[in-house]
Amino acid sequence: MIKPRSPLSPLAAIGRLARGRLPGQVVIQFTERCNAACVQCGMRRGNEFARCTLDVEATRRLLDVLAARGVVSVSFTGGEPLLHLDEVCALAAHARAAGIPFTRTGTNGFLFMGADKPGFARRVHALAEKLVAAGLYTFWVSLDSADPAIHEANRGLPGMVRGLEKALPIFHEHGLHPAVNLGLNRLTGGQRLPAIDPERPETREAFAAQARLALHRFYLRVLDLGFSIVNACYPMSGEDAGAVYQATSRDDVISFSRAEKHELFAALYDVVPRYRHRLRVFTPKSALLALMRETAGEGGPAANACRGGVDFFFVDAKGMRAFPCGYRGGEDLGPALELDPAHITPSAACRACEWECFRDPSEMAGPLLDLFRRPLALAGRLAGDRAFMREWLTDLAYYRACGWFDARIPPDREALARFAPA
Ligand code: SF4
Ligand code: SF4
Repeated sequence: MIKPRSPLSPLAAIGRLARGRLPGQVVIQFTERCNAACVQCGMRRGNEFARCTLDVEATRRLLDVLAARGVVSVSFTGGEPLLHLDEVCALAAHARAAGIPFTRTGTNGFLFMGADKPGFARRVHALAEKLVAAGLYTFWVSLDSADPAIHEANRGLPGMVRGLEKALPIFHEHGLHPAVNLGLNRLTGGQRLPAIDPERPETREAFAAQARLALHRFYLRVLDLGFSIVNACYPMSGEDAGAVYQATSRDDVISFSRAEKHELFAALYDVVPRYRHRLRVFTPKSALLALMRETAGEGGPAANACRGGVDFFFVDAKGMRAFPCGYRGGEDLGPALELDPAHITPSAACRACEWECFRDPSEMAGPLLDLFRRPLALAGRLAGDRAFMREWLTDLAYYRACGWFDARIPPDREALARFAPA
């Protein structure tokens, strides 16, 4: 096991907050290669374009640079990161040794296919050993639907869910608790979510009811599978114009109108607390409340601005260049090796999309930044927006009960039980 050199001390974190900055986070697209067929993604196999993968030595240098410049969290994403399992594990271990304590990667689960073939358990043990040795803080597995057949058909990965179910106890034996990543879509619950017709209010009611049902089905399925950590990725569609990260598409399965997005966030807001005592649910209710208000378009308190391009960045696989996020592809910040967040001048507040990787932590960190930079504004918010502040404080207490979603520790059932619905 590799020990981190020096995770960000509380004092250093406070110093950074006092300067109006958050500890840095960088999503590194290690590869554009993928072996899955997901309709919701431009990197699906069969989509022909020249696919790139980062050079390992250059990525090591990048990690050293990022660590020295105060980045505390890196995600290795793809494409499919585990097509480069050894390289990604070596890089995650390198990042930790360099002083980046929060390292993440994930998979579409192709390695879980063939669960009935001889040697499956041995393969999964070997995989778990590698991931544990890399010291990963988070390891996610994508799942699109409560219905395994729908998920596997969409991904083009037959038998993956059965293998996942067999693999999870092996991971747990090794002390690794993978998170399941739901990319919200119309087939999350198994049955297709109907469209909202703005001329017919009853279609909105039907959508809202079915969205709640879909989420219940999904959370029950992941409990059955044996997960203890779950995250929801908000649908990304229409961001493809100018996106540098191709994990988006215009397919109807993830294209939602503003009203539909609003109902999806409202459904999550209602359903998430029903499972907080049984699963470690990453999705913060304060962020959902902010997104509900934003998509309602009725004014009122604004969401916290996204920290993309300020403290959070995206590095592409094509040229190892830095961007404010995966979607502002028109704003090339130059070679990632030269990225220095301390010298970035924050641009106008961005709330252009709902990329959960950046929006959720931005929302959670917003009041902390205000505490140090604009205490009077925070006091005003405490008094004037009690609903948000109540959710935010509860989220913080809940995150603590979840062990800050550290995949290397099992769920604390006693702590989670305090969040059982009344
Ligand atoms: S969503 Fe992930 S697994 Fe699916 S095609 Fe895109 S990169 Fe591959
Ligand atoms: S809101 Fe979306 S587009 Fe804007 S910086 Fe954040 S992730 Fe990027």
